[in-house]
Order: sequence, then structure tokens, then C-alpha cells
Amino acid sequence: MDCIFCKIASGEIPSTKVYEDDTVVAFNDLEPQAPVHILIIPKMHIASADEINEGNSAVIAHIFEVAALIAKEKGLSNGCRIVNNCGNDGGQTVKHLHFHLMGGRQFGWPAG
Ligand code: 5GP
Ligand code: ZN
Repeated sequence: MDCIFCKIASGEIPSTKVYEDDTVVAFNDLEPQAPVHILIIPKMHIASADEINEGNSAVIAHIFEVAALIAKEKGLSNGCRIVNNCGNDGGQTVKHLHFHLMGGRQFGWPAG
């Protein structure tokens, strides 16, 4: 399968990894939109959030554990934003489920 995030997870495509274990990997976004902008992904290929189900949702809980861990490590004690873009209307450009962990600045809502 030609998936860039599967290749990043396997190490075939280089990235700046900030966390890795058996099931997830986190790495710096190539085009950061905030002082801290990290992508957290499951190693298994799940295309998007609308493919989460009873059989694979444990990894999502783990991703949020890892997000809290990284946020602490990066000193984001004043808060952060965790974003998932799902599908075309959601603005998802890479079709491998990922959560953006962003921090180090104030965010607007719903955009920006
Ligand atoms: P999406 O728009 O799908 O929610 O987010 C995809 C994110 O992946 C974007 O923020 C983009 O900058 C990032 N990205 C795309 N290709 C690469 C890559 O090859 N390496 C890294 N580190 N980030 C990437
Ligand atoms: Zn993939």
C-alpha cells in the first residue's frame, strides 16, 4: 500500500520521531502550524476516524494517553489543541488516521 504514514511508521520515510512504542508513533509535522505541532498515528493502517470501531478503538485511547504524555514533556501546561481532520470535508489530506497535537500559541475557534 502506498501510504506515507505507514512508511513513516516503518522508518522507510524519515521523520523526527518524538515518541514510539509497539502500537503508535509520534513525529513532528513537516509544516508546523504552531511552535509544537506533532502528529500521533497508529502503526496499523486505519484510513480515517470514520473507520474506528470496536475492534480497533483501543489504539485511539492509547493515542490520547500518549498525547497527554507528550504535552507534559513539551511543557504545554497552559493547554493545547488535539485535532483530527476526517475525510474530504474535514480537510484530511493524508488518508492514514492521525491526530495533530499543537501547542505553544493561542488558537481560535472554529478555525485557526
Ligand atoms: P491532514 O491535513 O491530513 O489532517 O494533515 C496531514 C499533515 O501531515 C499536514 O499537517 C502535513 O504537513 C503533514 N505531512 C504531510 N506529509 C508529511 C511527511 O512526509 N512528513 C511529515 N512529518 N509530515 C507530513
Ligand atoms: Zn497507512
